[in-house]
Amino acid sequence: MSSLLLTDRRCLLHETGTHPECPGRLKAIWERLGITKEVQTHDAWTRPFEPAPMKALQAIHDHGYLERVEAVCRNGGGYWDADTMLTPNSFDVARLAAGAGMAAVDAVMTGEFSNALSLMRPPGHHAVVSNAMGFCLVNNVAIAAQHAIDHYGLKRVLIIDWDVHHGNGTQDICYARNDVYFFSRHRFPLYPFSGKKNEIGTGAGVGATCNLPLSHEVPREEVLKRFEKSVTEFADIAKPELIFISAGFDAHKDDPVGSGGLHLNSSDFAHMTKIVMSLAETHCGGRLVSLLEGGYNIQALAESVWYHWNALNGNDV
Ligand SMILES: [Zn+2]
Repeated sequence: MSSLLLTDRRCLLHETGTHPECPGRLKAIWERLGITKEVQTHDAWTRPFEPAPMKALQAIHDHGYLERVEAVCRNGGGYWDADTMLTPNSFDVARLAAGAGMAAVDAVMTGEFSNALSLMRPPGHHAVVSNAMGFCLVNNVAIAAQHAIDHYGLKRVLIIDWDVHHGNGTQDICYARNDVYFFSRHRFPLYPFSGKKNEIGTGAGVGATCNLPLSHEVPREEVLKRFEKSVTEFADIAKPELIFISAGFDAHKDDPVGSGGLHLNSSDFAHMTKIVMSLAETHCGGRLVSLLEGGYNIQALAESVWYHWNALNGNDV
């Protein structure tokens, strides 16, 4: 088993100050993984990758929307909405984050690595076709999935979103499609207040979206059990050739944005990783690409990512 890690010190240039989605998130992860020195002395670590080409962004997002985001950044940035902040560098950093996801796909699809983890920011899963939302500018996982389909001719990929928030952006992008299957396990009700059980796709996409909304009352053991059961059943329907994880860590019990999340502790993220790895083994030769989404208690995030990364590496955690 071999795992590729991609991250980049330039992600710190999306400098959001006291916002919960802050550069300190990545710094804490690097520290916990013991890679701070290496990351801080290179652009693009552990290997070079490029910003996503505009064409790749335009394959997912409305052209006018992308132009507006870029223009706001070029003009000095500011708040796009109440939640989502832009700095002069944000558009470039978002393109870099999307590019890391594409490079992760390349590493796995060429067979060079069994799986890959992209630790970049800003996150992406709330970004809809024509708008930024919830700290997200461009939808990294959807762009990576489209790259897998366009470049490697895949017919069916599966995105598993375990952030505490519903991955409304990814759902919006994939809702009428039957090549990108989308599964979201999230707390409900909680921002963005979508992701009900009856949201299953539309048109050709009916049945290719599966939502598992869980209330705060559901105990931790039950959260894990229901996740395993639902995602396993859905993967059997999706029969994916590649699996993605929208890896948010804000379902952690100590997460402030997830308001106590779904009671998970840090090692539960290793458990969930192993569940998804086993699905990847069953369906697609272990091919798995994970992209960082949320997680806002800096210490809990770093610890949870450590468990996730070790599980991806096949370490006994
Ligand atoms: Zn989240």
